[in-house]
Amino acid sequence: MEKIVFATNNNHKLEEVQSILGQQYKVLSLKEINCTQDIPETAETLEGNALIKARFVKEKYGFDCFADDTGLEVKTLNNAPGVYSARYAGDAKDSKANMRKVLKELEKKEDTSARFRTVIALVLDGKECLFEGIVAGKIIREEKGTEGFGYDPIFVPENCSETFAEMSADKKNKISHRARAVEKLKDFLNEKL
Ligand code: IMP
Repeated sequence: MEKIVFATNNNHKLEEVQSILGQQYKVLSLKEINCTQDIPETAETLEGNALIKARFVKEKYGFDCFADDTGLEVKTLNNAPGVYSARYAGDAKDSKANMRKVLKELEKKEDTSARFRTVIALVLDGKECLFEGIVAGKIIREEKGTEGFGYDPIFVPENCSETFAEMSADKKNKISHRARAVEKLKDFLNEKL
């Protein structure tokens, strides 16, 4: 079994990614390699932040690694909140406040189309690769559902009638931006094996 580090301590993400990558890989968290530092995400793009995290682990801990960064991109808000999704309404990273801010800014807009975009950066055998996963959809005017996290209660994916927060984790994980990016990572790793 190949070991690879995923630069996160988010158990929800670790489980999702481990289940997609399957038995051939053991995905290690930052905690499992004794990395307790908060890796700064100072880039202005998702690609930049994902690369910062993956390079940090390689440089300081010597492990091949992948890292992700995700943003909600709302078309009529010039793709905001984008790379600033976690802190859109302030440093508290408050999901409710973030959603309220998006809904307020969309009040006078008719078009609420939006998408989630995940970028995964992989540092492997001295090379760097990027994988992108996108799910298109729209923002609805009020929160619906209690599952998931972040902006899930106000995002309805294309060809669906419910928000991400109204779906089971299984259903969301089959179609999510992150799942799509991880599938590309998996194909790449399987070709290498
Ligand atoms: P991260 O890069 O995965 O940490 O995501 C940054 C921010 O984007 C999170 O704090 C959430 O606000 C939002 N986000 C990321 N993934 C999702 C998702 O699957 N659903 C809803 N919001 C998400």
